[in-house]
Amino acid sequence: MGIIKDDVLNKYNNFISELKKEIEELEHKPNQELKEKINNVKKKVELIKSEFLKGIVSQLLRELSKTEPSNKKEFGQEINKFKEIIENDIRKITQKIEKKERELKYRFNFDLSIKFLPDTPGKLHILTIVQKNLMNVFAELGFEIIDGIEIEDEYHNFEALNIPADHPARDMWDTFYFSGGILRTHTSNMQIRILKTRKPPIKAISLGKCYRRDNMDATHSFQFHQLEGFSIDEKINFLDLVRTLYKFVHKYFGPNTKVNFVPSYFPFTEPSAEMSISCFYCSGQKNDCSVCKGSGWIEILGCGMINPIVLKNVDIDPEKFSGFAFGMGIERIAMLKYKIPDIRMFYQNYVEFNQLWR
Ligand SMILES: [Zn+2]
Repeated sequence: MGIIKDDVLNKYNNFISELKKEIEELEHKPNQELKEKINNVKKKVELIKSEFLKGIVSQLLRELSKTEPSNKKEFGQEINKFKEIIENDIRKITQKIEKKERELKYRFNFDLSIKFLPDTPGKLHILTIVQKNLMNVFAELGFEIIDGIEIEDEYHNFEALNIPADHPARDMWDTFYFSGGILRTHTSNMQIRILKTRKPPIKAISLGKCYRRDNMDATHSFQFHQLEGFSIDEKINFLDLVRTLYKFVHKYFGPNTKVNFVPSYFPFTEPSAEMSISCFYCSGQKNDCSVCKGSGWIEILGCGMINPIVLKNVDIDPEKFSGFAFGMGIERIAMLKYKIPDIRMFYQNYVEFNQLWR
């Protein structure tokens, strides 16, 4: 006869076998009942802790202190064994319940079909919209649209455009070099590629991505888009360039826009100019205009007459043919036209930003 009475052991064993049955039944319960049943089992586990582990075991330990020393060792071991059985049962039941709760929480019972949201259809990115609009304008002006390549060699990107290896402009147009070539720094490479395979008259634009070794800030990006245009024929002169750009500006920025040319320098054009347009926001009337900074003028592109050296490089006789060329940054045009303050906004994929240009 030990220290633990039979009725106590029977009570505990009955309690546990009932509880184990309940846990087995959880497997067959529908989801809506499961949560309630799990809570019931959890309450019973708390009951085991309070009634058996704390209550009865503590009571037995008190009794142990009053037993004869000769029985203490044996009775002590008996109590410890009982305590271990209870703790073991609690641990096993708790593990099963936690597993069941996890299954309930992550049960795969939701509808996998995503609802189509008719109020948020896909749309074109603002840079694509601007490129398409520019292409339309130049197509109306008689320009052919030619696709371009982004991976280029140094010859087509630099040398053929009169930018030899030791030319200072190479610093400004530093780019990404790799074993297969370089990433083009401007769309002017296409001027060379087109003129090498076709002879004048030719009037074309080419647009696409370009790359430079620039750190990202509000107005710079290592990747950007450019539009290049040129026209070569007999007797093309600077007035043809002015006339063409004037028409472009009127069509794209509005019929009241004025243009202004300021002398500039590019290795591939001679003479060269920067073209500005009158501010289409304030027409020079606002000193605090965020677009023109109060000057009334906005620089939008570089242009000039194609350098005879470039024509020679593509085997076109500069005595017989002449041409003009111009290039503009698509991001710059988009930023000006739509008052976008930071070039990084184009590439950050904020849905809210993209949805502004519906
Ligand atoms: Zn202004």
